[in-house]
Amino acid sequence: MSAANFIGGEWLASAGGRTYEKRNPFQTADVVGEFPASEATDVDAAVGAAVDAFGDWAALSPQRRGAILFQAAERILARVAEIAGDMTREMGKPIRESSAEVSRGADQLRFYAGEGWRAQGEIFSQGATGNQVQVLRRPLGVVGLICPWNFPFSIPLWKAAPALAYGNCVVLKAAAEAPSGALHLAGCLHEAGLPPGVFNVVVGRGDEVGTPLVKHPSVRAISFTGSVGVGEQVRQEAVPLGKRVQLELGGHSPLVVMDDADLARASEAAFAGAFWSAGQKCTATRRIYVHERVYDEFLVLFLQRIERGAVGDPADPATEVGPLVSEHQLTDVVGAIERGRSEGGTLVRGGERLGSDGFMLAPAVFEDVADLDYLSREEVFGPVTSIYRFGDLDEAIERSNSTRFGLSASIFTRDSENVQRFVARIEAGVVRVNAATAGGEPHVPFGGSKGSGYGPREQGRAALDFYTETVTVYQNP
Ligand code: NAD
Repeated sequence: MSAANFIGGEWLASAGGRTYEKRNPFQTADVVGEFPASEATDVDAAVGAAVDAFGDWAALSPQRRGAILFQAAERILARVAEIAGDMTREMGKPIRESSAEVSRGADQLRFYAGEGWRAQGEIFSQGATGNQVQVLRRPLGVVGLICPWNFPFSIPLWKAAPALAYGNCVVLKAAAEAPSGALHLAGCLHEAGLPPGVFNVVVGRGDEVGTPLVKHPSVRAISFTGSVGVGEQVRQEAVPLGKRVQLELGGHSPLVVMDDADLARASEAAFAGAFWSAGQKCTATRRIYVHERVYDEFLVLFLQRIERGAVGDPADPATEVGPLVSEHQLTDVVGAIERGRSEGGTLVRGGERLGSDGFMLAPAVFEDVADLDYLSREEVFGPVTSIYRFGDLDEAIERSNSTRFGLSASIFTRDSENVQRFVARIEAGVVRVNAATAGGEPHVPFGGSKGSGYGPREQGRAALDFYTETVTVYQNP
């Protein structure tokens, strides 16, 4: 991996020659790299390379495109330790989670490589003549992918793999906080034989790289993952220009624990959901609703689990909770904890800064947070969760649905009737039964409803809807 843009099959400095320094969020004296601070000229070059590459790439058979993706998956698997190590050093995700993220990336590529061997169209009969009507899928052209820092390998990959498999060329804007995952992906695809210009990565700030990419006339579609505010701005810029837009935004995921639940498993899932990756997941558990009959018992188990949790150096394979990605993020989360207290919430545990260097925060648990308070409504992107008592499932569902978000939701229960009622009424794009709110698999759709998403879902075959357009062909002799 080079700390450079990847454009037209080459590693390039930004056109203006500017760079920025990225430091390790656990040991701030450790400079991870000098990355390009790119600008509109770099975006133009990347889009130009993608436009030039598109005709040949789209004309290649889907099986041959897939063969390159299969090869890239092999390259990734050969380098899990290196890619995960860079990710952990750069943005602080504990190495065990980074390693799993990279390995899962290879699965994503394999799934989409296999798409080349599956049917991508449909055949009907014409009503008037009985002759055939084919419904074909064809690639859009050049697509722009804008990625956040919190899944720096998976998200670039789960956007790029279907885009490429279905015949598009890509310009990917990597997050400035964590560009190395996307750059490793570029290296693996290049070594696997991807033609120059088919996949390009430009590193830099949102306003300097993201905006020119969104507005570029040759970019047909934008797939964006990130915060609600920026996503809204992207939609407002792109839709009037006639672009297809997909947004994956924030979340405020609830976990519901019924009185018949396996409380040991539920407390384990609450810990993982709220605190792994230091709570910096869109699907992190922000609210834990516990039935009043088991509330006290659950709270004891949950606090014990936090006591046992390994908090510290993310490079240590035992660590479960590492640092926040940046000082800015730390300040934001500390401010939200203060606000939670000032609004009447009780900080049961954690919330204090740990160590004198790095951006470590002790996992924080709140009680007594009112439903309309800040912590119950707004996404605080850190290791902070709140726990609430409820009386019956209907109440738990109603309160779970009370935010503008709808990304993921979980229930712990042994009763299938509870499960059915929850699934039928919960407002979330991903529902997990007896499992943590965070987690997903590559072959099935992922995405949120309400304020958490816009446009077709990502991943699985759902990605076909975003990365292709439909052509209906009436065949007559
Ligand atoms: P962010 O919105 O700040 O940035 C996301 C990306 O957009 C970055 O690459 C950024 O540089 C770029 N960007 C910023 N301003 C832009 C602009 N004006 N035009 C175009 N691009 C611009 O988000 P973040 O802080 O990197 O990530 C955290 C957020 O992402 C959280 O809200 C989290 O919930 C969300 N997220 C959602 C999902 C999901 O699938 N729903 C997954 C992961 C993260």
